[in-house]
Amino acid sequence: MSTAALAAPAPPDPTQRLLAEVFGHGEFRPHQREIIDVLMSGDDALVVMPTGGGKSLCFQLPALLRAGCAIVVSPLVALMEDQVGALRQFGVNAACLHSALTTAERNAIERDFASGTLDLLYVAPERLLTAPCLALLQHTELALFAIDEAHCVSRWGHDFRPEYLELAVLRQHFPGVPCIALTATADPRTRDEIVDALALNAPQRFVASFDRPNLHYAIHSDGGRDALWHFISSRHPNGAGIVYCPTRRKVEETADWLTARGRRALPYHAGMEPDVRREHQRIFQHEADAVIVATIAFGMGIDKPDVRFVAHLGLPSSIEAYYQETGRAGRDGEPADAWLSYGLRDVTRFRQWIEESTLADERKRIERQKLEAILGLCESGQCRRRALLNYFGEQRNKDCGNCDNCVNPPALIDGTELAQKALSCIYRTGQRFGVNYLIDVLRGRDSERLQRFGHHRLSTFGIGSAVTMVEWRSVYRQLLVAGLATVEGEHGGLRLTAESRAVLRGERNIELRRAPPTPVRSSTPRTFKPREPLEPARQADFERLRARRLELAREQGVPPYIIFHDSTLTEIARQRPGSLAELADIPGIGKNKLERYGDIFLATLAAD
Ligand code: ADP
Ligand code: ZN
Repeated sequence: MSTAALAAPAPPDPTQRLLAEVFGHGEFRPHQREIIDVLMSGDDALVVMPTGGGKSLCFQLPALLRAGCAIVVSPLVALMEDQVGALRQFGVNAACLHSALTTAERNAIERDFASGTLDLLYVAPERLLTAPCLALLQHTELALFAIDEAHCVSRWGHDFRPEYLELAVLRQHFPGVPCIALTATADPRTRDEIVDALALNAPQRFVASFDRPNLHYAIHSDGGRDALWHFISSRHPNGAGIVYCPTRRKVEETADWLTARGRRALPYHAGMEPDVRREHQRIFQHEADAVIVATIAFGMGIDKPDVRFVAHLGLPSSIEAYYQETGRAGRDGEPADAWLSYGLRDVTRFRQWIEESTLADERKRIERQKLEAILGLCESGQCRRRALLNYFGEQRNKDCGNCDNCVNPPALIDGTELAQKALSCIYRTGQRFGVNYLIDVLRGRDSERLQRFGHHRLSTFGIGSAVTMVEWRSVYRQLLVAGLATVEGEHGGLRLTAESRAVLRGERNIELRRAPPTPVRSSTPRTFKPREPLEPARQADFERLRARRLELAREQGVPPYIIFHDSTLTEIARQRPGSLAELADIPGIGKNKLERYGDIFLATLAAD
């Protein structure tokens, strides 16, 4: 290389330039550049990248660079509208076709498309597959196909969409157009299913790390609502969050309960009036401090980057579900919490549900495995992140320093004697009583029911009176999880298993976890460094910028983060740019946003 070449910096290539000019980002996230290059060379790609990893950019940028219009298939109208709204803020010509449009609106979009002025067209799969729509596509140059949420092709997954299976026809009609399939959740089997079902042509596969380093994981047992309140009030007195509950009733109760404590909490479940539900979703999307309390019906299509916590009151159905649901927190990369509390009842309820269901045996086996896996994660004393990543096939050789078990390792005690007492109580009462009754016997409670069965005369009566109710519940939960006891019958009676005998005969020792009495947490995780907090004067600037952003957002009827993320406002407040040129250097401010909002925010900043 000549010295002259070294002296003059090479002009940035068009891909890099667009990243800064349009999207306002300085660097590509991992894999983005390689994926874009694959599409630019006309090849297919399969992308598995966690939520918040930056998937959209992988097709949005090539859509601008390649000739023609990109077609984006997405399963949910709300998701499409969000992306189109965000793209328009960047000054990109994007539109979406779905069934909620009027004929006139649809005609206008189709005209734009046919005349070649659109860069991206988002289409719902069922519409795309109609003959008129396919015909429309035949007459215009296409840049690429992007199939978002591609795991919807999987019949075994919880988001299965039959229309997705028909998308293979795209490869027949448009063999020369590159196609990219994207998803946040796909194990190796599902990846193969996607490639087959969409007839991708020798796609390059990109599987990004599943690690979400900014998420702090914490899992509590038997905490319940009070623990939830302790968590929310101490860690998130403001900021947006999602609380997942197992049932609609629990959703309603919890939302009321949080509201009564002065927190703005909105219920969301499939049994509500659609208008009310939509309104709650809208408020959550648009306001910075709202908590949504929901069943798992709430989730896909939520594209809010500044969700500060996701809390589960109750056990999620699988590790995949837990990962996907918690993944909705902290998509902006700022610190966020994934908090879960579950109890004995979750364990017994899931077990009973599986055993008494009419599922085929094969399916029951799968459900049992899923339950064991999530319980294993919950009961484990090891680093949560390592356990999670390990489950998804990523081996880590270091603890993360940013989960409850790393920050505050649980104490392990020799629980052999406790286990023997608990198991022998099951045996002596005839293997048909539930946990509460068994604990009454162990603690020697004087109840009429107990007298009636004559259980006050048993040798186990009162032998556990020195141990609290909470501790006994924890013992039984751990025994159930370890397969040393099992639940049967509609009343949830406990029985012994083949493995219980060895414990009772003293041939096997049992280690039990003793949960810390109150959740404690150090605020300095070792590996993930949140940014320095703003000093008070800068914080005041930030608040003013934030208020101005809210006004602008309200005028346009869009969520505030579409204008600028919190992280961008924080940097403006910290760096106090004095000119448009200085403002342009702040991450998250592209050319279009600079023109549109630059002066407004500079004026707001200067007005103190
Ligand atoms: P996904 O679809 O994978 O869940 P998104 O495409 O919505 O993720 O991106 C998540 C967030 O990351 C968005 O707010 C986006 O602006 C931001 N982002 C994407 N690429 C970059 C990048 N190269 N630099 C900085 N931020 C980025
Ligand atoms: Zn950890």
